[in-house]
Amino acid sequence: MTHVTHVDGPTDSVTARVPAKVNLQLSVGPLREDGYHDLVTVFHAVSLFDEVTVTSAERTSVIVTGEGGPAVPLGPANLAVRAAAALARATGRRGKAAGQGAGGVRIDIRKRIPVAAGLAGGSADAAAALVACNELWQTGLSVAELTEIGARIGSDVPFSLAGGTAVGLGRGERLTTALVSGSYQWVLAFGAAGLSTPDVYAACDRLRAARRTKDGQPVGVTEPQLSTALMAALRSGDPAAVGPLLTNDLQPAALSMQPLLRRALQAGREHGALGAIVSGSGPTCAFLARSAESARELAVGVTGAGVCRAVVHVSGPVPGASVVQSGAVA
Ligand code: ATP
Repeated sequence: MTHVTHVDGPTDSVTARVPAKVNLQLSVGPLREDGYHDLVTVFHAVSLFDEVTVTSAERTSVIVTGEGGPAVPLGPANLAVRAAAALARATGRRGKAAGQGAGGVRIDIRKRIPVAAGLAGGSADAAAALVACNELWQTGLSVAELTEIGARIGSDVPFSLAGGTAVGLGRGERLTTALVSGSYQWVLAFGAAGLSTPDVYAACDRLRAARRTKDGQPVGVTEPQLSTALMAALRSGDPAAVGPLLTNDLQPAALSMQPLLRRALQAGREHGALGAIVSGSGPTCAFLARSAESARELAVGVTGAGVCRAVVHVSGPVPGASVVQSGAVA
């Protein structure tokens, strides 16, 4: 077993912890010519964490253990590997994190965030790798500089670095911190199989293209707007006000691809959820509870309904990617 101790001298190994996100609002604009959609979203970081340890090594490698590990790519497609390589390039460690010659990095990812679940697990690992390698290599980049590198890896990476609750514009990468009072109790219900984000967007476009008014005219897609009612409810800190205002434009598409999700959402409502929503592109369902105690009851009720693979009780908001341990490998 690897043993890590704190030292004041050079570090060989750094561990960062990074949260999953849920979207409290996800409004999707019309399909753009470049194939993307403009979004208005409200990200919220919750206490379900992946951990990423980076260790100085001859060659770059990645090991993934835990929830959904076998589904995660182990080569250059891994978002944590891409993040380490991008940081190495940006700081002049050219080729090193890409595994050429000595001075690579071994990346150990311990996953608790399910893969392809609408919880931004891959982006989270990229953010954790950026923070951890920044410390390991003593590159001294600011959070703003890491955010700029992260945005090129994936549009959810800036939020995984920031954490808390934030409004995301553009593809979700242009962030503004949201004012939120108190802490919110959530139950997350994981689906049996993942959903591919591009597939869910494509299904959303198809469903929208098929919409017709009563007299048979196509229904246009309007530009997304931030919900001022949701922002006011978040400032009030009252989960009963927040619950009914949760919205997700991708939910109909996710439900069309996994119809069982309807029963999961229904089970959450029947067991006292103040709000029940598919998170991001799904298939995770997020249920907002009145209190920690009602979240525990809700978790038991949803588990008993047998409509999902696993259930966890989490809270938010929590901070973004941060170093939790740094030291020499003994
Ligand atoms: P989002 O909510 O950001 O759209 P998601 O939560 O639905 O994404 P992820 O868990 O980020 O989905 O995984 C999406 C895909 O990214 C996976 O199918 C996997 O192939 C790839 N991937 C690359 N690196 C990672 C990683 N470190 N962890 C998880 N998935 C990764």
